[in-house]
Amino acid sequence: MAPLTATASRDFDLIVIGGGIIGCAAALYAAQQGMTCLLVERDMPGSAQSGRNLGFVRQQSRDFPELALMIGAVRLWEGAEAALGRSVGWRQGGNLSLAFTEEEMETRRIWQTRGVEEFGLDTRILSRVQTHDLLPHLSTDIGILGAMYTPSDGQAEPPRATRAFFEAGLDAGVTASLGGAVTRIETSGGQVSGVRVGERLYRTRTVVCAAGTGSAALLRAVGLTLPQERIRATVARTLPRTDLRLDPCLSGLQTGIRQDVSGAFVISVAGGEYDLRPDSWRNMRWYAKTRKENPEAVRINYLAPLQRFLGRKVAPPLTDIPPTREYVPTDATRAQQALDDFRRILPAASDLVVETCWAGIIDTLPDVLPALGQIEGVAGLLVATGFSGHGFGPGPMAGKVLAELAAGRDAPVDISELSPMRFRGGPHGRSPVLSR
Ligand SMILES: Cc1cc2nc3c(=O)[nH]c(=O)nc-3n(C[C@H](O)[C@H](O)[C@H](O)COP(=O)(O)OP(=O)(O)OC[C@H]3O[C@@H](n4cnc5c(N)ncnc54)[C@H](O)[C@@H]3O)c2cc1C
Repeated sequence: MAPLTATASRDFDLIVIGGGIIGCAAALYAAQQGMTCLLVERDMPGSAQSGRNLGFVRQQSRDFPELALMIGAVRLWEGAEAALGRSVGWRQGGNLSLAFTEEEMETRRIWQTRGVEEFGLDTRILSRVQTHDLLPHLSTDIGILGAMYTPSDGQAEPPRATRAFFEAGLDAGVTASLGGAVTRIETSGGQVSGVRVGERLYRTRTVVCAAGTGSAALLRAVGLTLPQERIRATVARTLPRTDLRLDPCLSGLQTGIRQDVSGAFVISVAGGEYDLRPDSWRNMRWYAKTRKENPEAVRINYLAPLQRFLGRKVAPPLTDIPPTREYVPTDATRAQQALDDFRRILPAASDLVVETCWAGIIDTLPDVLPALGQIEGVAGLLVATGFSGHGFGPGPMAGKVLAELAAGRDAPVDISELSPMRFRGGPHGRSPVLSR
């Protein structure tokens, strides 16, 4: 096993920036192909989004340009525990999305038809009775009309899964540098030449930038404009309840719910807080339409600079999530809204109290699709970022795509509509509702 700090060697076939699920998977798959690989993570593997998310692994309701990536990811999740030799908490209990209005039913029908006919998915539309048959604990008072259900969807335990990919990478020969951030991607004559971590320069001709919220700043310095923004989302976890089973990941009202391996319910309301920063003006024009169309999805927190200053003195909540040096406070209103929805949907569990809460910062792009692939004009620079609140599920396959591209081969799935260069033309205008 390679040591946890960078060794004397400063030359690598590949350097991966970011120890989230995507960076860890990319490093693992590259090392398995015989590449020498350095993974640089400023905190710990899973400290950011990949250890803090809800754990849904879903093909259902995805945007079609990223569906092939996600279908490939499910195949990897199915074999992950055997391939990594570690538990990732994978369970294939399906994904169930409730519908409350005829319009919501119709949206689901349209998606289901295309998902089945074009992508061969096992997605079904359930009637009200079929939905209650599948979920006997579902409230009969909330007025559902039916649901969309994809049995091949699943869930995994975020910090555990990310750690499993990281450790399997170490076993495969990945060298890891933890606790120091990449400050710069070095280039020479339009070709990547290395990365800087503090005073150290590591040399390579291929870099994967999978730094989540840290990606845009690193890429800006090499000339790529990525209108990436940051949305703070809150997650709550109840005490465990083992006599009550919820197999699928469930979305209803505004909330996503799943039962984790311990029996606890993990819940989160869609949307989040936008913490104002000194450079918030930078991407304003990209998100103007979104804010107008859907003002409640993301609330602007004008007090963020002051809270950030005062909050430094407050201890973070105790959780089993790897710590981050970022200031990521939870939002009590969102946590309460999630709990209220949870109790309305599953009244049999309404006695459960919240055991802990945490928040994570989602890196989003204006069209809520990831930026995945080669940066034009900088040979050897690959990027995977901006998964917009749903990158945990596709994470392993994004890592596989990057490892293939790093080895000079084609992507194993269609990523043609996910190019990081697509923002050159100016603002898009699709609505970043952070769906589950
Ligand atoms: C509350 C919440 C709920 C979510 N729910 C779901 C869900 O149910 N299903 C789903 O599929 N997705 C979900 N997501 C989204 C998902 O977590 C992310 O899309 C995914 O984890 C992104 O993985 P990543 O590897 O790109 O980024 P990250 O996990 O953010 O990893 C990036 C890493 O890069 C490091 N880094 C940053 N800058 C530097 C630097 N300069 N040098 C070195 N390291 C650096 C960071 O410390 C971090 O560890 C959710 C996200 C949140 C926050």
